[in-house]
Amino acid sequence: MTPSFQQPDSRGYFGRFGGAFIPEMLHRNVAELQGRYLEITQETAFCAEFDSLLRDYVGRPTPLFYARRLSEQVGSQIWLKREDLCHTGAHKINNTIGQVLLAERLGRRRIIAETGAGQHGVATATVCALKGLECIVYMGEKDIARQAPNVARMRMLGARVVPATSGSRTLKDATNEAIRDWINHPEDTHYIIGSVVGPHPYPDMVARFQSIISLETRHQLLAATGQELPTHVVACVGGGSNAAGAYYHFLEEPSVAIVAVEAAGLGVASGQTAATTQLGRPGILHGSMSLLMQTDDGQVVEPHSISAGLDYPGIGPMHAHLFESGRGTFVSATDEEALAAAFSLARLEGIIPALETAHAFAVLPRLGLTTADTVVVCLSGRGDKDLAAYMQAMDNDMLTPNPSLP
Ligand SMILES: *Cc1c(COP(=O)(O)O)cnc(C)c1O
Repeated sequence: MTPSFQQPDSRGYFGRFGGAFIPEMLHRNVAELQGRYLEITQETAFCAEFDSLLRDYVGRPTPLFYARRLSEQVGSQIWLKREDLCHTGAHKINNTIGQVLLAERLGRRRIIAETGAGQHGVATATVCALKGLECIVYMGEKDIARQAPNVARMRMLGARVVPATSGSRTLKDATNEAIRDWINHPEDTHYIIGSVVGPHPYPDMVARFQSIISLETRHQLLAATGQELPTHVVACVGGGSNAAGAYYHFLEEPSVAIVAVEAAGLGVASGQTAATTQLGRPGILHGSMSLLMQTDDGQVVEPHSISAGLDYPGIGPMHAHLFESGRGTFVSATDEEALAAAFSLARLEGIIPALETAHAFAVLPRLGLTTADTVVVCLSGRGDKDLAAYMQAMDNDMLTPNPSLP
């Protein structure tokens, strides 16, 4: 493979980011994935089953919706790629379906995953139920307490949810437990990573499964406007999987501006943030070299974001490369800006977005857009899971005035 913005080199590097930094005990499993993922995922029978599940189970293609009132307010032409309409309410299932089909072909019938807010855990438990596979989800003890509805969903779907009780008892610790499990069960287990992070080939593999988002967008935009290319693609970035999918088929089109939105939390300089590119330095976390929020002596800094899906101290290597090369524009939105944007979208378009997604909408007024611009925003997920935060915001009267009224 020749390196590009889309694809890493043969060792899994996007620029100087990526690679596979793994314990010796996982070498065989990771090498097997590296050796076989392209061959398996390009087989005719694999593609046919993946496409048919995306269509009939997930509900693809998801619509590309012209947001008329939002467009008027921002003074631009804004199209929403409706990943919130996917089965289970977000883009994550595109990847879990791809990986479960891969696991079957590798003869692995035991599936493990890590989850923070529980969205990736729910998507994994869903496809394991569909395929009759054993499913074990590692989740920080603290997150289990905070995310009771998603824990209940996973259990109802037949998954075993195992608490991670070490460290800060959140996502990072759950990931460490999942890696430990994989080391102990290398023969029968596949580890489904939920974003474009982890050792090579995960970042490339997950980006390919999610690239259906931009493939559909190109066709839909052409059909609707006569133009295949937008001027901007905007997406929120936690690990970066919905963004990678939304950008993928536009990355080699220099006329398309790539806009990545990170979570600033209480503010980039507050010490309570997840704005990785603003503060991060190169480092290794969970199997790859990327940008990482860390102290001077290399300890990972605890991130903060109101949205659990963006509350991660790193980003995937593709995004680190997009940032460092200047191909992508990286901006951030605070907790408060994201909340305001969620209420605004609800009232302008009748769509309640996930809190993660709301960050992407929060920056639109700041991008210097004009009526000549065609902007695609990846609406990565729906907001049902965030109702508690939205209810609290209404109690605190953080509501912005209804933007549609004078
Ligand atoms: C998990 C999640 C994200 C963040 O993950 P990425 O890998 O960065 O896409 C964003 N939006 C929603 C709705 C999510 O569930």
